[in-house]
Amino acid sequence: MNEKYDVIVIGAGNAGLIAALELVKSEKKVLVLEKNNVPGGAATSFVKGRFEFEAALNELCEYGTKENPGEVYKLFEKLGVNEKLEFNNTLEAFNVYCRDTSMHYEMPFGINEFIAKMEEYVPKSSEALKKFFYLAEECKNAIFYLEENKEYVDTNYLKKNFPNFLKVATSNVDKVLDILKLPKKAQEILSTYWLYFGSPTSTLSFVHFASIVYSFISKGSQIPSKKSHQISLTLAEEIEHLGGEIKYLSTVKEILFKDKKIAGVLLENGDIYETKHLISNISPNTLYSNMMPEPLIPSSAIKLTNSRVLGARGFSIFLGLNQSAKDLGLDNYNYYIYDSLNSEKEYQNMSNIKNTSCVATILNNVVNSASPKGTTIMHFTKLFMGDTFSKNITEKNYFEIKDKIAEDIIDDFEVTTGIVIKPYIEEIEIKTPVTYAKYFDTPDGVIFGYKATGMDNYLPRMISLDEENYIKNLRFCGGFDVKLSGYCGTYLSGDLAARLTLKDIKMEGSDE
Ligand SMILES: Cc1cc2nc3c(=O)[nH]c(=O)nc-3n(C[C@H](O)[C@H](O)[C@H](O)COP(=O)(O)OP(=O)(O)OC[C@H]3O[C@@H](n4cnc5c(N)ncnc54)[C@H](O)[C@@H]3O)c2cc1C
Repeated sequence: MNEKYDVIVIGAGNAGLIAALELVKSEKKVLVLEKNNVPGGAATSFVKGRFEFEAALNELCEYGTKENPGEVYKLFEKLGVNEKLEFNNTLEAFNVYCRDTSMHYEMPFGINEFIAKMEEYVPKSSEALKKFFYLAEECKNAIFYLEENKEYVDTNYLKKNFPNFLKVATSNVDKVLDILKLPKKAQEILSTYWLYFGSPTSTLSFVHFASIVYSFISKGSQIPSKKSHQISLTLAEEIEHLGGEIKYLSTVKEILFKDKKIAGVLLENGDIYETKHLISNISPNTLYSNMMPEPLIPSSAIKLTNSRVLGARGFSIFLGLNQSAKDLGLDNYNYYIYDSLNSEKEYQNMSNIKNTSCVATILNNVVNSASPKGTTIMHFTKLFMGDTFSKNITEKNYFEIKDKIAEDIIDDFEVTTGIVIKPYIEEIEIKTPVTYAKYFDTPDGVIFGYKATGMDNYLPRMISLDEENYIKNLRFCGGFDVKLSGYCGTYLSGDLAARLTLKDIKMEGSDE
């Protein structure tokens, strides 16, 4: 007899773990199947020499603090895991270097502090910036209202309480910042964080950008004291403690159907597990192309998936340095190294293999004990779009190319900041889109889901959630889903997928 579960979750990434925990808390019989030997997907750590490196997390948005909690804090509170975790506030919002003007801007957290600092860099920017934050807060509240009242949206309430949100709901960032008359230089500094959206401000949804930047500046960003693996491990332990099962080294090969309805999954090792409800923490691209019989995939699902653009591919350099950050002069937490503050130009650079724009973080400046005393952990994240990386490599030149990219990034960091790090490298680990494709099984080593651009962003995806639920009892979660990528989006997306699945189970009960 094959074992039967109320729900099977494919993948133990951030979203899969949250979905599973929420379901076991609702007393469902849950199985999580994970192809790797540890939970977390990207949210993990790895050891090299005497260093344990954080594998992904630079900034966790929407956690906040007990006094000023964000959506992730509230979710973790609901799931009862906050007291098992310890977080530290990062130092500054952005510390950005632009090579074209040789300028360097350091922006603090806190809305008043942010506005005051901007006024120093860009005189006469504060009134427009105040308007931006006012509007950004309204957008955030409007999104919250829409999410909570999706079944019945009271348009009069919407018009009365969120009139400005309605005016900007379909606009891009540039358009709204121009309307607010924010000076161009202040627009560019404010938009430093665009990189994590993977879309230039000319096509990035204002509502999406503003609501995240509002949370980021007002609540700060946090990182866990024992790397993000601590969060993943805590979630996994809690699932198992409450009776859920997680099977590692268990790669799902095929979704099984009976009478065109979800019936279970087949693993690569031949095991079969039965269920009527699946949650996929892996992308629709992977699921539809490799794991389902084609005739059972509705053509609208294929059309939608094909219409979406894959987001940024990741290239990371992890350095273990044999000096303290203080001795090296690495005083900040984050270093954005851009050719220019113009996001359109920088976005074009993401298609140039030789470009060295990147963001670097210094873990020890937030978590003192992140590595042995007198050492430093430094992490560079570089993003490429499309096939920029893959078209330049062959099996033969792979190591040469990746080493060259890493060397150029480190050299240019030193030249731009004047901080010397190369002689102090004790350990180096380079991860490329090939590594990420292999580890997460994401298409092309994408690390930020689908590009959130034009009309394909959070708000329209959320509004069409019901119409896009193409296969009964199959729900998606994670970086490729409605709440977009990043730790915050994926945790919240796991929560949403669990709630929708509970609703599906209830509906099924009333059908029978
Ligand atoms: C270098 C880097 C830096 C980043 N920096 C930040 C940051 O600073 N802030 C931020 O918010 N976000 C950041 N991110 C993005 C963030 O890490 C991701 O958006 C998020 O972790 C993705 O979570 P997910 O739930 O979509 O699952 P994933 O992490 O993609 O996990 C999916 C899981 O499914 C498993 N799986 C795949 N196929 C199968 C199969 N067939 N059978 C069973 N299991 C399968 C995989 O092994 C994996 O464990 C970064 C990512 C990277 C890589």
